Amino acid sequence: MNQLPENLLAELRLQQGFDEIAFLLAHQQLPNTSIRLNPKKKTAIAPLSEGEGLGMRSKIAWCENGFYLKARPSFTYDPLFHAGCYYVQEASSMFLEFVLKQSVDLSQSLKVLDLCAAPGGKSTLVASLLNENSLLVSNEVIKNRATILKENLVKWGSENVLVTNNDPKHFERLENYFDVLVIDAPCSGSGLFRKEPNYLNEWNENLVSLCNQRQQRILADVWKCLKPNGVLIYSTCSFSESENEEIADWMVDELQAENISINAPTEWNIVTTKSKKHKAQGFRFYPHLVQGEGFFCCAMRKQNADFEKPRLKKSKQKTSTINKSILSNWLTAIDAYEFQQKNEFVIAQPKSLIGEMEFISGKLNVIKSGINIGQLTHKDLIPDHELAMSNLLSDKIQKVELNFEQAIQYLKKEEIKNFESNFVGWTLMQYQHQNLGWAKVLSNRINNYYPMNGRILK
Ligand code: SAM
Repeated sequence: MNQLPENLLAELRLQQGFDEIAFLLAHQQLPNTSIRLNPKKKTAIAPLSEGEGLGMRSKIAWCENGFYLKARPSFTYDPLFHAGCYYVQEASSMFLEFVLKQSVDLSQSLKVLDLCAAPGGKSTLVASLLNENSLLVSNEVIKNRATILKENLVKWGSENVLVTNNDPKHFERLENYFDVLVIDAPCSGSGLFRKEPNYLNEWNENLVSLCNQRQQRILADVWKCLKPNGVLIYSTCSFSESENEEIADWMVDELQAENISINAPTEWNIVTTKSKKHKAQGFRFYPHLVQGEGFFCCAMRKQNADFEKPRLKKSKQKTSTINKSILSNWLTAIDAYEFQQKNEFVIAQPKSLIGEMEFISGKLNVIKSGINIGQLTHKDLIPDHELAMSNLLSDKIQKVELNFEQAIQYLKKEEIKNFESNFVGWTLMQYQHQNLGWAKVLSNRINNYYPMNGRILK
């Protein structure tokens, strides 16, 4: 790897207890590989004690379903990756789970916004921590990144998630609405030099200062949509004080935010910092101290001000013309969902969240809302991939278990060799009892309905 920027090192030398030699040595080593299991689909993954399968090495202390792997496997060639059984995520950023658990009562029905969400690491983590009456709005401003975010959340299979493609400014329309904001801000990326060495070529002090300005703008734009007493968790993967502790000070000064104090066990080796002006607590992850990359995180509370709860436009009960008798052949717990026709598709939204989902759809550019069930024809349903990935499917749906080679052929949309099935019609393709997607089995061939844009290309 090229030399680390001297200006960055000079700044880090001013941090109390900074061990430059260990920091430089850590940058000569390979980054760790870690994954987080999907609690709704984790039965398929070999437990740690067996050590086989993905080759899990050890558990990540601050995240219940987080594991380090012994080596980096080819995730592309693991059908369980495509089935959404786990997410490949850098270990330090899983600390969000610990901060959320310490600062928010997750047993409540919450409305959470993950503002800078693509490709979906924090959103899939948050989705797994919320209860079924909570709503996650997962937003990404850049359109093609929002599409990737949507695909990853489809794989994850949560039904109480909305994906939006909006500028932070648009969230002013949802005044005092969210209980929690997760702001994983765009930053100069110095914490990822080991994983992404090309970031070194782009790093300079001007970039840091530009990022600091952008971070302030983003926070100022969305602050209004946080409820009084609501919690904002701010993070970056930068080592620069001006993107971290100085932003915490700025939030206290300009937003009258109150810093939330969190206790992390000292044996985790996460460095607790205090901002210069207001002594706001933050957490720094250094690659020579933790098994993870550079990361910063702090939690803030919006002080109680006069709070007027936003009024929700009552959802008008649409007299649904959707033929539920067809849907009941496909879905479980059908009564817990409201079904809506959107263009040619039927969308299932949890009844408990329908008002919120409609309210937000009237304000933002929503690109995924609940679960897309598929297209209803007069006699049947053409099921969507989202349905296969979700937890809504009835157990009665016919399934075929594929072996590894067949699963890869299916995911590549190639001919599935030696395929055997006792029935025809819509069939779930499974690998190790996890859903990969749909196929329509005909008497003389199989029509593969795996989404074109998700197929394995290599
Ligand atoms: N939270 C994501 C995860 O865990 O997978 C990573 C987010 S990445 C650090 C920051 C995101 O902010 C990027 O997806 C980027 O496109 C987005 N972004 C860039 N400029 C932005 C802006 N001005 N406002 C909001 N988001 C922005």
